[in-house]
Amino acid sequence: MFNTRVKVKELLATTPENQEVTVMGWVRTFRNNQFIALNDGSTNNNLQIVVELGSYDENFLKKINTGASLKVTGLLVASLGKGQAVEVKASSVEILGECNPEKYPLQLKNKPSLEYLREIAHLRFRTNTFGAIFRVRHSLSFAIHQFFNERGFVYLHTPIITASDAEGAGETFRVSTLPFDNPPRQENGAIDFKEDFFGRATNLTVSGQLEGELGAMAFSDVYTFGPTFRAENSNTARHLAEFWMIEPEMAFHDLEDNANLAEKFIRYLIKYVMDHNREDLEFLAQRLVEEEKQRPQAERSEMGLIEKLEFVVNNQFERISYTEAIEVLLQSPAYKKKKFQYEVSWGIDMQSEHERYLVEKHFKKPVIVTGYPRDIKAFYMRQNDDGKTVAAMDILVPGIGEIVGGSQREERLEKLETRMKEMNIPVEEMWWYLDTRRFGTVPHAGFGLGFERMMLFVTGMTNIRDVIAFPRTPKSAEF
Ligand code: ATP
Ligand code: MN
Repeated sequence: MFNTRVKVKELLATTPENQEVTVMGWVRTFRNNQFIALNDGSTNNNLQIVVELGSYDENFLKKINTGASLKVTGLLVASLGKGQAVEVKASSVEILGECNPEKYPLQLKNKPSLEYLREIAHLRFRTNTFGAIFRVRHSLSFAIHQFFNERGFVYLHTPIITASDAEGAGETFRVSTLPFDNPPRQENGAIDFKEDFFGRATNLTVSGQLEGELGAMAFSDVYTFGPTFRAENSNTARHLAEFWMIEPEMAFHDLEDNANLAEKFIRYLIKYVMDHNREDLEFLAQRLVEEEKQRPQAERSEMGLIEKLEFVVNNQFERISYTEAIEVLLQSPAYKKKKFQYEVSWGIDMQSEHERYLVEKHFKKPVIVTGYPRDIKAFYMRQNDDGKTVAAMDILVPGIGEIVGGSQREERLEKLETRMKEMNIPVEEMWWYLDTRRFGTVPHAGFGLGFERMMLFVTGMTNIRDVIAFPRTPKSAEF
C-alpha cells in the first residue's frame, strides 16, 4: 500500500517530532554511503534521508544510485546539517526501481545543457529547471481557468478537427484516412475528398476563434484553451507546430474593452504565479542570471526575472496605434543605422525585430498596438472608417515580441461578406459563421494568447521547446 506516503514538500514544512513517516521518490544524490537526497517532484528541494552507517550491506548500498526510486520509512527529525530543517532517519529503505549509472542518460554531475535535455525530454522533468518550469505551467493553466471562471465565462471546447481553413492563420495539417499511394481522384485528377472520412477535406485547427464566436453569441463570454496546430516551417525559438492557445471571445465588447481584458488577464496570470510558485520562480530567476553570465553585457536583461514580473504587474501597458509604431521605428537610431534586416514603412507586417525594438529599446514595457492595415490582417477583423485599417490589436512583450493577437470582429453582415469575397473566402461554406451576423448580431471581440509564449515570459526561458513537455517542430516529433 502506497497511500500513507507523504510528499517531500509537505514533509519539509512539517515540525519534526520523531514521528514515523514514509516517503517515496527518486535519488538525486547519495553521499558518503550515508546521505540520500530524495526528490518526488513536489518541490525542487530534496529531502535528506540519513542511512545509519553499517546498517546495510555494501551490495545494497551500491544500488542507491542517482535516478533509482526508493520507498523509505523512518523518523522525521530536526536536521543537524545545514541546508535543511528536517531529515528522515531511515529505519527501512526499499529500492523500488534500480537505475544503472552506466546507462542512465541524466547524470547531474556535469550540468547537462538545455539542448541535450531536449534529446532526453522523457527524463528532463527530473531536473530542477524542468521541475520548476512544469510546476509553473500547471499553475498558469489553473490560473487561466480561475480567471475566466471568476468572471462568468463559459469554457467552450472547440473542435480539433475542422473543415474550415478560412482563417488564414497559418499552414494547416491535413487530417485524412485516404491512402497516400493511391487516393481516389476526380475526373480532373484532383484528389476526391468526398471519399475521405468526413466526406470533405479536413485539417487540424489553427484557432478556435470562429467557433468561439458562435458561443459568444449565446453565452456572452466564452473562452477556449486547447491545442492548435500550424505547419509553420519557420524554425524559430518562438514557434511550435503544436501549441496551446487561450482564446476568449466576448459579446458587447469593442477593441478597447478587449485590450483592457487582455491586459488584466496577463497581469492576473503573472500575479497568480508570483503568489503560488515563488520558490520555482526564484530558482528560474537564478538560472537566468547564470545563463546570462555567458552573454556579453549588452545582451543581458536590465531586470532580473522577478523584478520584471513585478514591473509588469504594477505598471500599465503602453498603448499606441500601428501608425505611431511605424513612426517610432522610422525615427529610431536602429533604423537610421540600418540595423533592421527587414524594411520599415506603413503597411508592413512588423517583424519580430521591429516588435522587440518597440518593447525592449523604446518603451521598455509591454505595448498594445492597435489599428493595423487591413491588408495584412484576417477577413473577420472590423473595418475602421478610414478604409485602410482594422480594429486589430497585438500585445508585444520584452524578450518575445507578439504574445497576443486579437481584434474586434466585423459584426456587419454586408461589410463582412464583401471583405470575404475580396479575399476569396468561400462565403457559402461559411454559412454557419455568417448566420451569427444574420440573427441578432452584436459588437464583439476576442483575442488569442499563445500559452507557450506566456510561459517563456514568466519563466525567463528563451526557447519555446523548453516550456512544452514534448515539442513538435519541423523534423522533430520524438516522444
Ligand atoms: P507570429 O507572427 O508570431 O507567427 P501570429 O500572428 O501568427 O504570430 P496569431 O495567429 O495572432 O499569431 O495567434 C495568436 C497567438 O498565438 C500569438 O500572439 C502567439 O502568442 C501564439 N502563436 C502563434 N503562432 C504560434 C506558434 N507557431 N507557436 C507558438 N505560439 C504561437
Ligand atoms: Mn504566425
